[in-house]
Amino acid sequence: GPTIGVLALQGDVREHRAMLEACGVASRAVRRPAELDGLDGIVLPGGESTTMYKLARTFDLFEPLRSALRDGLPAFGTCAGMIMLADHIEAGIVGQETFGGLDVVVRRNAFGRQVDSFEEPVEFTPSWAEPFTFPATFIRAPWVEKVGDGVEIVARAATADGGDRIVGVRRGCLLATSFHPEITGDARIHQLFVDLVTAR
Ligand code: GLN
Repeated sequence: GPTIGVLALQGDVREHRAMLEACGVASRAVRRPAELDGLDGIVLPGGESTTMYKLARTFDLFEPLRSALRDGLPAFGTCAGMIMLADHIEAGIVGQETFGGLDVVVRRNAFGRQVDSFEEPVEFTPSWAEPFTFPATFIRAPWVEKVGDGVEIVARAATADGGDRIVGVRRGCLLATSFHPEITGDARIHQLFVDLVTAR
């Protein structure tokens, strides 16, 4: 079966590994460039994207992971991980870079002014599986402001003003959510990522 890495510089690594285990998939913590070798996919966890960026530089992982993604390594980013996968960030700190790969604009801490963290049922509508409702937990979450050509919107969340915002996107084998499916004990979204990896 596939081996999926979990970027382990910072953030909720253990929770992601438990979800992958629930999907019957082997996982590996990734802190050093050599640990990228032979991976079939990688998860970029939630945490703090500014810290993750700095640590990726410190551990000499930034360029190797950026090029692995450019070369087509499948990836699943949650919250801070979504930010790290985005080609463009709004409200980043000065000098903050992302690994990129996903042609979207994300806004950091976007829901923050309304409320810091909340749970909301989200309709997940992946083109490669049946739709379902997911209990989504948002913690100082980003949202997606703009998607490029070929980016599929897989989830939207209702906002306080009666509108909605994009909180799940996918292009090819790259999947990202604004929320944290790793902390709810529900492995369905991880399974969707595993399905993208194995179908490849
Ligand atoms: N606000 C954080 C950031 O900018 C993300 C928060 C999270 O991952 N829960 O990275």
